Amino acid sequence: MILYIALLILIVFLIIEFRLYLFLFPKNRLIILMYHQVEEKTNDNLTVSLKNLELQLKYLIQNKYKTKFFSEINPKEKNTIILTFDDGYKNNFKYLPPLLEKYNLKATIFIPTKFIQEGYKNYEMMSFEDIRNLNENHFEIALHSHEHHNFRNLSTDYIKHDLENNMQILDEEKIKYSKVLAYPYGKYPKINTRKKEIFSILCDLGINFAVRIGNKVNYFPTQKPYELCRIDIKGKDTLVKFKLKLIFGKLKLF
Ligand SMILES: [Zn+2]
Repeated sequence: MILYIALLILIVFLIIEFRLYLFLFPKNRLIILMYHQVEEKTNDNLTVSLKNLELQLKYLIQNKYKTKFFSEINPKEKNTIILTFDDGYKNNFKYLPPLLEKYNLKATIFIPTKFIQEGYKNYEMMSFEDIRNLNENHFEIALHSHEHHNFRNLSTDYIKHDLENNMQILDEEKIKYSKVLAYPYGKYPKINTRKKEIFSILCDLGINFAVRIGNKVNYFPTQKPYELCRIDIKGKDTLVKFKLKLIFGKLKLF
């Protein structure tokens, strides 16, 4: 029993050490943060308060992180971070431009085109006009499917058609976008054969990267461009928790 506990402690220690090592020697780290809504005040985990977001952005700048678009990723640059916002909420349009301009930062917004066309629950979403008006020095638009359905158990044909729709509508609306996909709910098939089918469709469609959640830091050179991880920044995260997430990604050990 004592041996077992000692072994467990050793394993936990090694995991922490290894992640710290990777943090302290940041060669080729690619951190992708995931946000959703921004409001004056937060009541849930999908909404970050304006004040907290500003504190987080200031921390990134003070610590020499460089925000990039997916289209500019350069494996030779250190401390690259990508800020991503999902779904196209109107509050992103309201609060992000002044903030990103003030600190000269960049962010990627993943757009599910059906949410823009038809709305989503009771939320106010951006219009295509809003998206067109985002300053391209600070905003990159990318794909988030058309219908925003969980891809895990959907047919290959459906997924292909849905992604084509997503791109076609953005094209028709004259919105410039990067061929990067955020899987709706971060989900894609788990079974290897199905996964390969979906990845080959992404490749055929010219999609360069796809992001899941995973809560891990990525490292170059990435062998898995269609399984890049994002770190979920929650509305209730304190600044300390935010800093720890930049080091460890997932805060739970297992
Ligand atoms: Zn989404």
